[in-house]
Amino acid sequence: MSASPTVQPGATPDLDQLALLKSMLEQRLQALESMEAPPSPDAGLPVPEVESSPLDRATVRLLNDLSREAAGHHAAEMQVLRHALAKFEDGSYGLCESCGQPIGISRLLARPEARLCIACQTRAERKS
Ligand SMILES: [Zn+2]
Repeated sequence: MSASPTVQPGATPDLDQLALLKSMLEQRLQALESMEAPPSPDAGLPVPEVESSPLDRATVRLLNDLSREAAGHHAAEMQVLRHALAKFEDGSYGLCESCGQPIGISRLLARPEARLCIACQTRAERKS
């Protein structure tokens, strides 16, 4: 019972680890934001629908649909990252949003944006 490892699986992150997790989140958010930025200000669509055969236009439309879908996915992920970063501000980062227990540093390092501890996450996944 006297053994006390420096890093316990359920331990809350220390200040250095918090700073690391925050920069991980910020870097990913920045990468997504740069992906979101339109390639040029006057381009409404990622692939210009130039005069071409109907078949080509269909292909271009498909590509645009795909990139719009990807943009939607990025927007959702950016929201998750901003949500996690906001929790640094109110001091609730690293705590499970369901039960309030520490999420655990090993889980946070693997998934810095995690909102639930492993127990609540498992329960939530089983429910759906
Ligand atoms: Zn929990």
